Amino acid sequence: MAKHTIGFIGLGIMGRPMARHLLEAGYELVVHDVDRNAVAEIVGAGAAEAHSPGEVARKTSLIITMLPDSPDVEAVALGEDGIIAGVSAGDIHVDMSTIAPSVAVKVSQALAEKGVKCLDAPVSGGDVGARNATLSIMVGGEQETFDEVLPVFQIMGKNIVLCGPSGAGQTVKACNQVLVAVTIAGVSEALVLGAKAGVDPQKIVQVLGGGLARCGILENRGERMVNGDFDPGFRIRLHYKDLNIVMQTGNDFQVPLPVTGIVHELFNTAMSKDRGELDHSGLLTVLEDLAGKEARTSA
Ligand code: NAD
Repeated sequence: MAKHTIGFIGLGIMGRPMARHLLEAGYELVVHDVDRNAVAEIVGAGAAEAHSPGEVARKTSLIITMLPDSPDVEAVALGEDGIIAGVSAGDIHVDMSTIAPSVAVKVSQALAEKGVKCLDAPVSGGDVGARNATLSIMVGGEQETFDEVLPVFQIMGKNIVLCGPSGAGQTVKACNQVLVAVTIAGVSEALVLGAKAGVDPQKIVQVLGGGLARCGILENRGERMVNGDFDPGFRIRLHYKDLNIVMQTGNDFQVPLPVTGIVHELFNTAMSKDRGELDHSGLLTVLEDLAGKEARTSA
């Protein structure tokens, strides 16, 4: 099969390094973002620019989107001069954003009417995974489309699994966001407890990282949390958005999520305190507020 010309829409923290990997692998890339600086950076690395999602679709045969939220994907895919306006039968749309499973199904059904094959393919591994091309990619869609796109996924990720039909990738991503959010809350509570009881949180990170409590949050974020470094990374506002998706999905399928419900409210608290732009590990600050004690090495 001929190599696709790839369209890439959404050049944020995740999209920029992912697009760069595709360029470095020799793919021709046509990019679009509402942020002019982000576009300029990737055009500088060798991509061509398009001024609308429809133009991206007219110039490419495989279109990847990496946008913030469900309404953004819906607007870019189905809105005025959206992807749907520029596609031809046989083209492929791969949405790698984290959005509601129900919206993924809606977008793929609308594009299918134009003969477009769709995958929902959200990722895990964060900005570090995007930069190192080690993302986990959880995919929903048809086997044949998955097989066709797999070589492209392999340029951006390592652990790539077809989870089921359209929407299944987003469902698995919702499960992922439950685990990550609950773990951040648990690590935060542990650090604040230890710090207020008089232990250097740095020591807690060091020793717990090697025992049964070891986890991705302690490994990737523990050091930064106790240093009070909450530069994103994955922003609190995006994780809060994902927890809204999780709670809605729990509601849709009548699955009580009591633990996630409490953590959802902790994220809501962070949002109400105007901390949405912090890395999600900045949830620590909410637990610190509750205890009246900072869990920092210097505190
Ligand atoms: P981001 O906010 O850094 O980037 C989103 C980009 O989309 C921005 O450059 C923005 O200008 C662009 N955009 C928004 N609306 C647009 C539109 N209508 N047309 C064109 N461009 C538009 O977000 P991010 O951190 O890169 O995350 C992207 C997606 O990946 C989100 O769904 C997020 O939940 C998910 N995700 C992020 C991480 C992470 O660690 N950052 C990890 C896993 C998954």
